Amino acid sequence: MDDVGAANVLTLASNEVPFDPLPSVLDTVGRVARGINRYPDAASVLLREKLAARLEVGLERVAVGCGSVGLLQQICLAYVNPGDRVLFGDPSFEAYPLVARLADGTASPIPNTRCSIDPVRITEAIDERTRVVFIANANNPTGTALRRAALASVIDATPSDCLVVIDEAYREFADGADVPDAVCELLDRPNVVALRTFSKAYGLAALRVGYLVGAPDVVETLQRVQLPFTVNLLAQAAAIASLDAEHELAERVALVRSERERVESTLRDAGFGVPDSQANFVWLPTGMATAMAHERLLAEGLLTRAFAGQGVRVTVGSPSENDRFLEACDRVLDDVGVIEAWQLPVGDLARSTNRWVERLRAAERRLASHAGEPRPSGLTAPDPGEAERWDAGQVWAHIGELGDYWCTELTQVLASSGENPAFGRVKTNPRRLAAIENGHHDNVIVHFEAARRAMDRLRALVTEMDGDDWARAGTHSTLGVMAVPQQLQKFLVGHWEEHADQLDDLGGRSP
Ligand SMILES: *Cc1c(COP(=O)(O)O)cnc(C)c1O
Repeated sequence: MDDVGAANVLTLASNEVPFDPLPSVLDTVGRVARGINRYPDAASVLLREKLAARLEVGLERVAVGCGSVGLLQQICLAYVNPGDRVLFGDPSFEAYPLVARLADGTASPIPNTRCSIDPVRITEAIDERTRVVFIANANNPTGTALRRAALASVIDATPSDCLVVIDEAYREFADGADVPDAVCELLDRPNVVALRTFSKAYGLAALRVGYLVGAPDVVETLQRVQLPFTVNLLAQAAAIASLDAEHELAERVALVRSERERVESTLRDAGFGVPDSQANFVWLPTGMATAMAHERLLAEGLLTRAFAGQGVRVTVGSPSENDRFLEACDRVLDDVGVIEAWQLPVGDLARSTNRWVERLRAAERRLASHAGEPRPSGLTAPDPGEAERWDAGQVWAHIGELGDYWCTELTQVLASSGENPAFGRVKTNPRRLAAIENGHHDNVIVHFEAARRAMDRLRALVTEMDGDDWARAGTHSTLGVMAVPQQLQKFLVGHWEEHADQLDDLGGRSP
């Protein structure tokens, strides 16, 4: 491309949404602007009440701040003494080291594993000087999110005198069924807080307003280190108006999610492995070729955000903006230097990863459609050479329990240092039989949700598997040595598909 005028540059660098502000929100801001000669409510009571009602928590558990960055600063001022350590992933949100230093704390970046925050490394790094752990979930800049068990392991390992801050700036964009909602699920411990913002999905980045939910004494402590009137009049009013317009915002967020899925799938299909994003951006793991990739994209008229030596973060824009980005990738990413530096599988392995991901999504949609219908009567056809036949309740109970079991087995095969470690179970396994027997009268939604969570966990896992992982194998007691793709086919993805077929048969549908 010849020279790119600034007006022509598409900015996909700061994770804002590509939409204009909602008219109702703009109207509100215009109206309240007539009152800017007066100080705003220092305690932001109306906004906090609205948030408390929406999140179904007490008012005394909600703090608001000048952006969530303002709350991050308050956290460090209140809890970090000079020399105390503040932990976070590397790479993670760039504000974390800044706010740690504002309190003379020691910023301790802990290297991620592949593209994700590493719960084991983080917990091993916690010591008696550690006062705060920042977990960006989803992580900025990689977009990856810790799933339930991984996040719980960090919380469980953190002593009560250390605060765990779950930064959910991108929560509204998350669609992974196993990505926990910190506000609903993780706040029973007084040293855990959830942080959110109106800057991203709500589109109010310039007004500076974020919020935190946590134990009442943490909220009170944070209020003591807040400057008066930091959440201004327009910010309070716009945030309230945005909460009233949540339906319209939800539609916009849904568009961003589906565009994210399209961008990820297109990149993988073009031979570039990217991690599973739970935010409104995607991560190109360009490693040592980051500066080059960033410059080439800029020469194509795309301003993205480079993290030196690590990767390029690209905000999901409107459909036409994303088309422009994907076309530019086509021209830029084939460069040999980029391919060699790429930190996830490239070429056929990226394409086959994409097929597994698409199959998982398709299987989930099939199960969703069955879960929404009345349970069919009748029995399944027996497996070849066997007599056992199941009703729909037994099929669902099995669908619900198999994912968790086989995902854990797969994870252990990948983590094992031995060659072809033993893994798996046989059909007569007592726990398998008990789960099917005990679960077969449950509401199918319970089993469907369990399957969705396992599918999500598996998707996050396969999208970050490297060539060595794909080449591993385990030894099954009756089926012998099975490579990872065979395990996915027989026990996980193909297994769910088989049982979706059974439900099709029972419901009288052609598959
Ligand atoms: C964008 C972002 C924020 C938001 O900051 P505000 O101050 O609320 O605009 C917080 N945390 C992370 C991880 C982010 O990426």
